[in-house]
Amino acid sequence: MHYKKLSFIIISIFAMSAFAEDYIDSRIDDLLTKMTLEEKIGQMTQYNGFWDATGPMPSEGENKNKLDQLKRGLVGSVLNVSGTKQVKEFQDIAVKQTRLGIPLIFGLDVIHGQKTIFPIPLGETSSWDLEVMERSARDAAIEASAMGINWTFAPMMDVSIDPRWGRVMEGAGEDPYLGAKVAVARIQGFQGKDLSRSDTIAACAKHFAGYGFVTAGRDYNTVDIGTYTLYNTVLPPFKASVAVGVKTVMNAFNTLNGTPSTASAFLQRDILKGQWGFQGVVVSDWASGREMIEHGTAKNLKEVAEQSLKAGSDMDMESYAYNRNLAELVTEKKVDESLINDSVRRILKLKFELGLFDNPYKYINEKREKSALYNKKHIDDSLDAARKSIVLLKNSNGILPLSKKIKNVAVIGSLANDKNSPLGSWRMASDDNTAVSLIEGMSRYTNEFKYEQGVRLVDGKESFFAPLVFNQTDRSGFDAAKKLAKSADVVVMMLGEHGFQTGEGRSQANLGFPGLQQELLEEIYSVNPNIVLLVSSGRPLVLDWADKHLSTIVQTWQLGSQSGHAIAQVLFGDYNPSGKLPMSFPRSVGQLPMTYRHFATGRPGPNVDVFWSHYTDESNDPLYPFGYGLSYTTFEYSKLIINKTANNKISVSAEITNTGTREGEEVVQLYLHDKFASFIRPVKELKGFKKIQLKVGQSLNVKFELSDEELGFYNPEGKFLVEPGEFDVMVGTSSVSGISGSFSI
Ligand code: BGC
Repeated sequence: MHYKKLSFIIISIFAMSAFAEDYIDSRIDDLLTKMTLEEKIGQMTQYNGFWDATGPMPSEGENKNKLDQLKRGLVGSVLNVSGTKQVKEFQDIAVKQTRLGIPLIFGLDVIHGQKTIFPIPLGETSSWDLEVMERSARDAAIEASAMGINWTFAPMMDVSIDPRWGRVMEGAGEDPYLGAKVAVARIQGFQGKDLSRSDTIAACAKHFAGYGFVTAGRDYNTVDIGTYTLYNTVLPPFKASVAVGVKTVMNAFNTLNGTPSTASAFLQRDILKGQWGFQGVVVSDWASGREMIEHGTAKNLKEVAEQSLKAGSDMDMESYAYNRNLAELVTEKKVDESLINDSVRRILKLKFELGLFDNPYKYINEKREKSALYNKKHIDDSLDAARKSIVLLKNSNGILPLSKKIKNVAVIGSLANDKNSPLGSWRMASDDNTAVSLIEGMSRYTNEFKYEQGVRLVDGKESFFAPLVFNQTDRSGFDAAKKLAKSADVVVMMLGEHGFQTGEGRSQANLGFPGLQQELLEEIYSVNPNIVLLVSSGRPLVLDWADKHLSTIVQTWQLGSQSGHAIAQVLFGDYNPSGKLPMSFPRSVGQLPMTYRHFATGRPGPNVDVFWSHYTDESNDPLYPFGYGLSYTTFEYSKLIINKTANNKISVSAEITNTGTREGEEVVQLYLHDKFASFIRPVKELKGFKKIQLKVGQSLNVKFELSDEELGFYNPEGKFLVEPGEFDVMVGTSSVSGISGSFSI
C-alpha cells in the first residue's frame, strides 16, 4: 500500500477512535448529571442471578428485594444468568422499566469454553501454542456471547508454584513469562479486535493479586510474600494484560502481606490504576469485600464499603456492602462522591464500549444461539487444542505409538469410560457427560480391545459445589480387571483425578491417585507390567511409583469435549505429542512449593556433609521438570550463537534438527541466568520460546532477541533495573536440558 494512503488510514482510525472516546465521555458526563446517588451506587452492584427467569418472578424474601432494586435501576450487573431467554428477561427490566434504562452487563465464568469445552487452562498451556489458546478463547466468546453473555471472569493468571492449590487448573502454571504470554493470548481471544461486535466479550484479569501463593496451598488462605516476589513473579501477567487493554480486573479473596486485596489501595490505586494507568473496571471477587469482616480488618459492611471503595474496587460482587452503605458514607462525608463517580464512569464506559447503550439486545439472538454452540469448527478446534495439550512423560520401551493393527489390548480404569470428568471443573454452561471418553476415542481405531473398570472412583454426587466422596472400600472389580490384564499384550490404564477434584475450594494435602486407584495399578502391574499409564488430572500429581515401575506415562490433563479422540490420536500415532509441562511435577508433596525459578541459596550443594540446602530423605529435583515433554521423534540442539545486535540487543540462535523417524513439533525454550546482580536472581528463568515443526532430518535455525525487558528485573520497590554484568543462557528442550553459553551486557 502506498505510504501516504496508509498513514492517512492510520490517522483516520486514530481520529475516529479519539472521537469515539470523546463521544462516549460526553454521553457519560450527561448520564452522570441525570443519575441520583442511589442509581450510581446501583451501577456498582453486581448480583448473582436471583431467579430462574423462565419461572415465576420472586414474590417474597431477598430475591423479591433484588427484583425491586433491579426495577428501580439499582443493579449494574448480574452474573450466572445465561441463555438468551433468561438474559432477555433481565435486560427487559433494566431497559424498559427503570428510570434511565441503563442496560445490564452479564458476567459468567467462561473459563475453558461455554458449551464446547476446551482443555482446562493448565492443560492447554502445555501446548505452549499461543494461537491455539487465543482461538479457544475466541470460540468460547462466540458461544458465550450467543447465549447473552458479554463479560467473562477469565483468564485467571495467578502464578502458582504449589499444586496442592486446586485452582492451579485454571491458570497457566508456575512461570510469569509464560503466564503473561498466555494471559495476553486469551484476552485477545475473548475481546477480539473490536469489542463492539456482538461476538466478542470483555475479559477479566484475575485475581489481583497473589492468590496463587496461598500459604501451604490451602485455598482462601493468607498470602505473605515479599514485594520482590510480587513484582517479579505475581504481577507480570497482570501488567501485560493491562498493556493489551484488558477491560476488567478482579481483585482477590486473599490478604496480601496483612491487607485484604479488596481493601488494598497499594495494589488497586497505586499500581493498577496509578502506575499502569488502568482505565477499566475493578470487580471484587465473590463477597471478597464481606470476607474482610472474617479477616478482621472491617467490623461491618459499612467499613467494608468504605475501605473497598477507597482502595479502588469499583464493583461489588455479592457483598451487598456498597448498596447498603455508600450513600450514608457520602452523607457522613466519610467517602467523597468523586470516588463513586469515577467507578460509575468506568462501568458505564464498559457498557458503551460493548455497544450495550446502542443496542442492549445485541447479544440476544436466538437464531445465533442455536447455530453458534457446538458447531463443527469449535469441535475441531477443541480437538486440536486437546491433542496439543498432551504431554508424553515417559516412553522408554517405545510401546507408543501403538500399532493400528494391534490386537489384545486391555483398557482399565473408570476414567477411561468417563464422559464427564474430561470436561474439568469450570464448565458452567456445558452439558454434563458430553465429552468423548477414551473408550469412544479408541473405538475409532480398533475394536481389538476389552474394557474393565477395575475400580469405581467416586460414590454419590458429582458436582461443582460439593466435595467428592471417593470409593475407599469396594475392590470388587479388581479380579476381573486383573484377569483381563493378564491375558492382554498391552494394558492401557487411565487413572487420575475426577473432573471436579480441582478448581476452587479443592486444595489437597495428598497428590497421589485418589481412592483405590494406586492399589489397582500395583495389582495390575503384578500380572502384566506392560502398561501405558494415562494420567488424567487437573494439577501435577505425585507419580513417583509409576515413574519407578512403568515404561510409559502420558499426562492427559482434562482435555474437554474431544478428550477421547485426542488421546487416541496420540496413542495410535496420528498425532505426535508435543506438549511441555507448564508446572513442575514433584516427587513428593513434602517438596512443595517448588519451582525451577528458585534462587541458589547460600548452600546449594551437594556437599558430603549434611550442611547444605536439601532434604535428607528426598531429592531437591522435581520428578518431571518445567518445560519437559517427549515426542515420538528426537530433536538435537547445536550451533548456539550469541551476538550483540546493532540496536543494543542480544541475539541468540540455535539449530534444531529432527534426528528421529517422524515429523514432529518442538517447543524451543530459552532460559537466562543473571550471574551477579544487586539482588539475588533465579538460577534460571524462561525468557523466550518458539514452537516449531520439523520433518524427519530437517534443521531449523531458531533465533531469539533479548532486550531490556528480558534482561532486567524489579527491585523490591518495583523499580525496573537492567544491570550490566554476565548472563548464562541456555536454549533447550526443557528447563533442564539444552545447550549453553554466556554473554555480558
Ligand atoms: C471465584 C472467581 C469467580 C467468581 C464468580 C469466585 O468464587 O474466586 O474466580 O469468577 O467466584 O463466579
